[in-house]
Amino acid sequence: MHKRHLTLLIILALCVFGFSLAHGQDTPPPEDPIGLDAVVGTPQPLPTMGERPAPSLVVPGARSTLTLYFSTLAQGTVGLIEVSGAAVTTASATWLDRFIDFFPVEEMGWYGLLSVGMEQNPRRDYPLSVSVAYSDGTRETLTAAIEIVLGGFIRQEVTLAPDKGFLLDSETERAELARMESIFTASTPERAWDEAGFTLPIPAALTSPFGAFRVFNATLSTRHTGWDIRCTTGTPVFASAAGRVIYAGEMPIRGNHVIIDHGYGVYSGYSHLSITYVTRGQEVTREQVVGMTGSTGRTSGPHFHWEMAVNGEWIDSVQFLRMWLPG
Ligand SMILES: [Zn+2]
Repeated sequence: MHKRHLTLLIILALCVFGFSLAHGQDTPPPEDPIGLDAVVGTPQPLPTMGERPAPSLVVPGARSTLTLYFSTLAQGTVGLIEVSGAAVTTASATWLDRFIDFFPVEEMGWYGLLSVGMEQNPRRDYPLSVSVAYSDGTRETLTAAIEIVLGGFIRQEVTLAPDKGFLLDSETERAELARMESIFTASTPERAWDEAGFTLPIPAALTSPFGAFRVFNATLSTRHTGWDIRCTTGTPVFASAAGRVIYAGEMPIRGNHVIIDHGYGVYSGYSHLSITYVTRGQEVTREQVVGMTGSTGRTSGPHFHWEMAVNGEWIDSVQFLRMWLPG
């Protein structure tokens, strides 16, 4: 047999052996609600925005209609709701103890983004309360009960080089997350994205998924706030959508980091950059280059980390990108 074929056979045999070890009788295959099996490993079509879905629930009011475009919400995802009616002047919602500001889309309606934190307890009947204001000064409240289901997150072990050991301090992690939470509490009442929605910052394979339970060097346990994209150092990073740069600087874990405010509580973050081309306050367009990839911050090698927050919660940026968004 040809030597190369023999090597391939051995690799294949090892893979099958490893797979059967990982999927033995005692351990059922992990759930895959976010399609990780489809995006990791073999090249797949890049995720793009989906078609407008059929409504899953319609709540009629006296002069407006509340429409839900999802049946359940998984931990760490976003659901789209709509209020439509000729006399509607504004709409807002109370959801998981947060105030959600709706954005208007001309000749369509008012839309709200309901985000669910990755640690929110699964339950059948979380209350949604939507307040609708009409042109004659009256108001109406429309309600629905929403089921939150498990996100099906995976677990990963990560090894950091000894010179990055100082990044295993849980206080460093806590301080950096708190810093970003303070940024995400603001909601700019101006929508920057258009009907094209959001795009991948680098058109390459997604690797490590959002929400993963990560253990660094068998000491620090964290959650993965975004998706990783495979790339080498010096790859251009594009803005996922138009917006205003609200942060451009260095963070201990995210390294050289850029955060874009897209309006109505939607933020995207771009981490571990080697070079940053934008500054705070700068307006950017969709697919404008914001920097170059690198391995600054807490990384085990060059890769790109892309994360999004919606209405104060870290959410699955790939799920958000795939979701139909009016614009
Ligand atoms: Zn990452």
